[in-house]
This record gives sequence, C-alpha cells and structure tokens, in this order.
Amino acid sequence: MQTYDTIVIGNGLTGAALSYELAKAGQAVLLLDDGNRDSGTCYSYGGIGYWAGTTELTTTLLRAGMARHRELSDELEADTQLREIDLLLTVEKEADIDSLINAYKVFDRPPQLISVEAAQEIEPQIDAEAIAAAFTIRHAHVDPMSLVAAYNQAFRRLGGHHNLSAASGLVRVGNKVTGVMTEAQAYPAQTVVVAAGAYSRNLLRAVGLQVPLFFTHAEIIETPPLDFEVRSLIMPAANNRFKQEAEAAASDQWQQPNSQVIPPVLEAGVIQFADKTARIGQISRFHSAYSPPADPTDSETAIRRAIEQQLPILKGVPGTWRHCLVTFTQDGLPLLGPVPTVSGLHLFSGFTSPFALVPPVAQRYAQYLTGHLPDSPDGLIKDMLIDRFSVERDH
Ligand SMILES: Cc1cc2nc3c(=O)[nH]c(=O)nc-3n(C[C@H](O)[C@H](O)[C@H](O)COP(=O)(O)OP(=O)(O)OC[C@H]3O[C@@H](n4cnc5c(N)ncnc54)[C@H](O)[C@@H]3O)c2cc1C
Repeated sequence: MQTYDTIVIGNGLTGAALSYELAKAGQAVLLLDDGNRDSGTCYSYGGIGYWAGTTELTTTLLRAGMARHRELSDELEADTQLREIDLLLTVEKEADIDSLINAYKVFDRPPQLISVEAAQEIEPQIDAEAIAAAFTIRHAHVDPMSLVAAYNQAFRRLGGHHNLSAASGLVRVGNKVTGVMTEAQAYPAQTVVVAAGAYSRNLLRAVGLQVPLFFTHAEIIETPPLDFEVRSLIMPAANNRFKQEAEAAASDQWQQPNSQVIPPVLEAGVIQFADKTARIGQISRFHSAYSPPADPTDSETAIRRAIEQQLPILKGVPGTWRHCLVTFTQDGLPLLGPVPTVSGLHLFSGFTSPFALVPPVAQRYAQYLTGHLPDSPDGLIKDMLIDRFSVERDH
C-alpha cells in the first residue's frame, strides 16, 4: 500500500489550498474529506480584506494574499471569480461615530467615513432613513466554492489523490501518528495535517490532545438567484469580533458539553454572487455543542428583520436557513504546525480572514513542511505555530 508523504484531512479552503501547494512542491498527497456541505467555506461571503492588516505580519500576509489571488485563476487554470467590490460598513443611528473612526485607524488602509447620500450612491438599495453614515473601502471577493474547486482540479492534475471519506481516527504508534483511519481502510503517511476547520478539535481529542482552537456556530440565509442587484458587500461598521473571540477563548464553558460561552452576535450583512444568489447573515453563536444550539425559525426571523431595515428590497426574498461552524483562536492568528507531544501530526486551522490569508500562508507552509525548516524562507510562519500556546493532554 502507498505511504503518502502527507495526508490532509478536510477540503474546506484550508485543506484545498494546502493539499495543492504540497503537491506542487512534489509531495505524494492524499486529501480526505467527509463531503459535509455545511462547512465554513461553503457558506462564506468570500470577502478578501487585503487592507485590514494591523501588524507587520498581517499586513505583509494580506498584501501577499491579494497578489496570490491575482495569480490563481491562471495558475490553477480555472476561474476563481476574483473581482473588486465596494465594502459598505453601515453605521447605526445611535452609534458613536468618533469611536468607530478611531477603531478603524488601526488598519493598514482604514475604510473612509462617508455620508448617507454617498453610501446610497455606492449601494442604491440602502434605505437612507435606516443608517447614520457608512464606512467604505475597496474590497476583493471570490466565489468560495469556485476557489476550492480550482485548487482541487489543479491538485488532481498534479497527481494528488482526493477521496471522499471521513477520517474516523488517527493511527498512532507510541508517540508518532503514522496515518489516518477511515471506515473502509487505514492510510499510512509520513505526516498528517488536520485542516478540518472546527472539527479539528475532535480529531485531535481522539489522540488525547486539546488545542486552543475554538468555534462559533454561524447562521445565514442562502437565497436562490434574485432578480435585482445588490452591488456591494454590506456589513455593520460596529464590529467587536476580535474582543468577543478573545473573551470566549478565555472561558471555561468550553469544558461543558452543551453550554453557551458568551451571548450570540447578530451582524446584518449581505453579499450577492455573480450567479445572482445571495447570502444574508449572520448570527454567530459561541457555544460548546457541535449541533445548532438555536431554533432555525427564530434565527431566520431575526436575520431577516435586521437586514430588511437597511435593505427593504430583501423583504420576503426566498431563502434557506444554513448553519456551519467557523474556527477562531484567542489571538486572531492561525494555529499551525507540528502538534506538540506527538510526532507526524500537524494542524492547519484557526484562520480569521481565511480568504485573504490562506493562499499565501499555504504556499509558505508547504515550503516549511517540505524543506523541514524551522520557518518559511521569509520567516513568516514562526509566529503562527501552535507552540506559542501550551497544548494540554485531554484526559
Ligand atoms: C457567513 C460566513 C461569512 C464569512 N465571510 C468570510 C469572508 O468574507 N472572508 C473570509 O476570509 N472568511 C469568511 N468566513 C470564514 C471562512 O469562510 C471560514 O472560516 C473558512 O472558509 C474555513 O475554512 P476551513 O478549511 O478552516 O474549514 P471548513 O470550511 O469548515 O472545512 C473543513 C472541512 O473538513 C471536513 N471535515 C470535518 N471533519 C472531517 C473528517 N473527520 N474527515 C474528513 N473531513 C472532515 C468538513 O466537511 C469540511 O469540508 C465566513 C464564514 C461564514 C460562515
């Protein structure tokens, strides 16, 4: 039986990009996916916030991410549907605009405050009565599943093996992970990379390891093609996501099997794709259960009410409630690298802004992994490695 250089578990954006980059670097790679459509990638907006760097590391990687996206359609020989759009961050009537201006100053290229009239010129569907102002910046966008399909096709052309099977466990001999088990068989490998989004926690628990990787339950409404146009990506200007994630990560509630960690957040937003379908969002629930912790009808009503206030044209549009899990870490940086205390096992997950960050990080990670180096040649992987946190044995 073939021993793979690397088995990558999970075919969301992270696994698709990394498996391609490893195959391109000459490795024999097996990509395993369980075929669950409810993934973070599948229901993502697909926005690329290349302007949103806040440190030297994130600014360099986000700029590299945009440059990488510009190459990908040609390199992968498939259209990722990359385009530039306006991001419109809507300001609620009672919001403190000065504190929002200050909050946006931290970014490499801060979004600009504009009047309601200017916001309406960018997005004619906005109800002028519903907002006090907006922030705007040029943003980039891909169709998430077109990008994954493009990576997958190019991976297979390079000789990569892509199996639709769930990893049911990891093969462990002493302190070394030597392969992956599925229902049908075990596959041996030199290195196993877990890139299974929020489900990575479970796979690592199966070998007795607990990593500081957390998740939210995201809920959206997915529409069929609409007979009108929403031009921009709309999201709320007030966004405490990093603060909430840090607060949630510090909580003990994750140890409880079915427990709310911190209260949920509703961010009224919408993005329309080239095929005219739209995703309307979004509720994020910080909850330790893996199954949806809320009533879909109540969630759908709340999401619809919030977006209809700002874009009345969306009132009553057909749509289906969707749920998926989205990972995060306590410091906003991804969680990568060899999992301490065992050999042969890596994690590649926990990305905030994955559509901007995963393509350039996967490229560098493949160099790091195949070169057996302490870092990627440009020195950008080290700060994202798991060993910046302690990893606990899960008893
Ligand atoms: C509504 C919404 C909007 C978003 N908007 C943006 C945005 O604008 N920009 C941005 O950058 N990000 C955005 N995100 C976040 C982003 O899309 C996701 O976090 C990201 O795509 C996650 O990719 P992943 O590969 O880590 O995980 P996932 O996409 O969840 O993929 C994990 C894969 O692993 C598979 N898997 C799990 N367990 C196993 C197993 N045992 N064996 C085999 N396979 C397994 C799953 O089926 C899945 O296919 C958004 C997310 C949501 C929900």
